[in-house]
Amino acid sequence: MAYFETVTVKTDLLIVGGGMAATGAGVEAAYWAKKNGLSVTLVDKAALDRSGGAAMGLSAINQYVGLRDGENTLADYVQYVRNDLMGITREDLVANIARHVDSSVHLFEKWGLPIWKDENGKYVHEGRWQLMINGESYKVVLAEACKNALGIDNIYERIFIVGPLMNGDRCVGAVGFSVREEKFYVFLAKAVLVAMGGAVHVFKPRSAGEGLGRAWYPPWNSGSSAYFTMKAGAEMTCQEVRFIPVRFKDAYGPVGAWFLLFKSRATNALGENYMQTNAAELEKWVPYGKVKPVPANLRNWLMLLDVMDGKGPIYMRTEEAIANIANEYKDDPKAYKKKMKELESEAWEDFLDMTISQAILWAATNVAPEERSSEIAAAEPYFIGSHSGASGAWVSGPADIQTDETRGEYFWGYPCLSTVKGIFCAGDASGASSHKFTSGSHAEGRIAAKGAISYIVDNNEEPTIDNAVVEKMKSEILKPLEIFEQHKGETTDPDINPNYIRPKMFMFRLQKMMDEYAGGVSSQFTTSKSLLVKGLELMEFLKEDSEKLAAEDLHELMRCWENIHRMWQAEAHIRTIMFREETRWPGYYFRADLPSIKEEWKVFANCRWDPATGEWEMMKRPIYQIYD
Ligand SMILES: Cc1cc2nc3c(=O)[nH]c(=O)nc-3n(C[C@H](O)[C@H](O)[C@H](O)COP(=O)(O)OP(=O)(O)OC[C@H]3O[C@@H](n4cnc5c(N)ncnc54)[C@H](O)[C@@H]3O)c2cc1C
Repeated sequence: MAYFETVTVKTDLLIVGGGMAATGAGVEAAYWAKKNGLSVTLVDKAALDRSGGAAMGLSAINQYVGLRDGENTLADYVQYVRNDLMGITREDLVANIARHVDSSVHLFEKWGLPIWKDENGKYVHEGRWQLMINGESYKVVLAEACKNALGIDNIYERIFIVGPLMNGDRCVGAVGFSVREEKFYVFLAKAVLVAMGGAVHVFKPRSAGEGLGRAWYPPWNSGSSAYFTMKAGAEMTCQEVRFIPVRFKDAYGPVGAWFLLFKSRATNALGENYMQTNAAELEKWVPYGKVKPVPANLRNWLMLLDVMDGKGPIYMRTEEAIANIANEYKDDPKAYKKKMKELESEAWEDFLDMTISQAILWAATNVAPEERSSEIAAAEPYFIGSHSGASGAWVSGPADIQTDETRGEYFWGYPCLSTVKGIFCAGDASGASSHKFTSGSHAEGRIAAKGAISYIVDNNEEPTIDNAVVEKMKSEILKPLEIFEQHKGETTDPDINPNYIRPKMFMFRLQKMMDEYAGGVSSQFTTSKSLLVKGLELMEFLKEDSEKLAAEDLHELMRCWENIHRMWQAEAHIRTIMFREETRWPGYYFRADLPSIKEEWKVFANCRWDPATGEWEMMKRPIYQIYD
């Protein structure tokens, strides 16, 4: 593509991604870089103000430990995460984030984020770990702080990062392209901090036809973190741990405020509370079936049992929850009316704060939450290691939390360093440290940035790359544009052409495969070895066809690469579900051929794609309990 200008940017630390982890990293890196005379550059495929999981705004900060006021201890948080992930968690990573997260929240407040306070000036909690916020502009507030710290000239927006730039076993930067101008970007760096979120649209979504594209998870996170680290040869962890949120059906509105703040029940169509009627099932999943709160996947599972028994739809009993709260005022008609009004507006605001489409759907279907229930359902699977999933790169923990047992396994020099020289990961990009959410991802971004700067200080080598390598990557990355140009005139319908496949059709094929063979919505999240083997076989054909992806313009070029990233995420997922010979997370996925939890599988299931051979290696890593 002769007309594509190549722009080369040289920096010391490169941050790829612009979400929660990246904005935290930006602020911290700016501070330490200035002290050490280093430069920092941040690149986002979108606009920093409104990108990533928190783009639309949120109504709660989901991780606040409250160490300052002695509300909880680090051990409390670690125990909560360990139980919710059915025992599979890196306690050193979880504790490291938990001990830093409150300071990120205090910074948010200082930067102007309104956090709800009670009459005594204390934060209002939604649940034990969650704080209520007026969060419509949550992301804008954090982006502003990051821009102020880094300087606007060091931030590149609307550049899609395709993959790592490797010089032998060392990462020396990243390559990508502008989604607005015909420019190919080469970022040369001494270390790269990966924070490009998780992945959506790997599985067929529930939304089809006029609803296509609607998902719980934001559409722009398409597996770029996973692709970047895998392509560099990094060891990955928890690739089997997907997240399936139960949300208001069809517009994916949040349920947290209903369950935690309004104390609502969810019931089947017969009015039965499946958490009670199916409670005996929890015995099968002990010890985790017996912990409080019941792990998220098991809550899903009890619901799914009713769905599979034909007892759906499942309803959030909004009218009952609102009535229960307002009933406290039943003897005072004026106060009752006022409370009802207040609850009604909180119910709508909860959606308007973060999932506007759910409010639109309520309006479109004449729902008054104080009058009737709304349907809830399990969404399609997502990869979001910072939420209740855990997928991501296998990274080093902090030095001071290690024990004699863990030191060799969990620590190799710098916090958040992956197994590849020069690649640090945070947020959804780093694995086995679930439940960090917005605040914890921000805190982990700060931890990773500080680690990356000390790595650069200790390994201050100039990044170099052979020009021929760059030229080869450029032509590979831009190839879909050429394919389209060359063959577009050969058929009357540009969507149907024997010489190429457009990214949308490619995505449909990937999603159908994952849905049917890897346990998606249509298969009630159930799979087996035979299905997975067949899925992998079909994946090989998809990989072959990825060479024939065609792009009409820059936007479609981005779509092509997003789908290649998704395909890699999908393959790692299938391989790891197959490797783990048990069902550990019913409600997220169920292995019909191995339908129970097994003590010998209380290990991490890790994988690595070898750039030298192109082969996948699967391995187990031990789990150590550090906290009581
Ligand atoms: C619907 C939803 C509701 C949530 N609700 C809450 C809540 O109420 N409270 C809470 O605390 N947490 C909540 N979370 C979790 C929270 O949003 C995530 O934990 C957090 O955003 C993860 O941070 P991150 O930096 O890893 O990813 P993100 O914040 O998602 O950022 C990813 C960034 O990478 C960029 N990017 C992606 N691909 C590329 C590429 N190829 N090149 C360049 N840039 C790229 C994106 O543009 C984006 O800037 C919610 C998440 C979702 C999806």
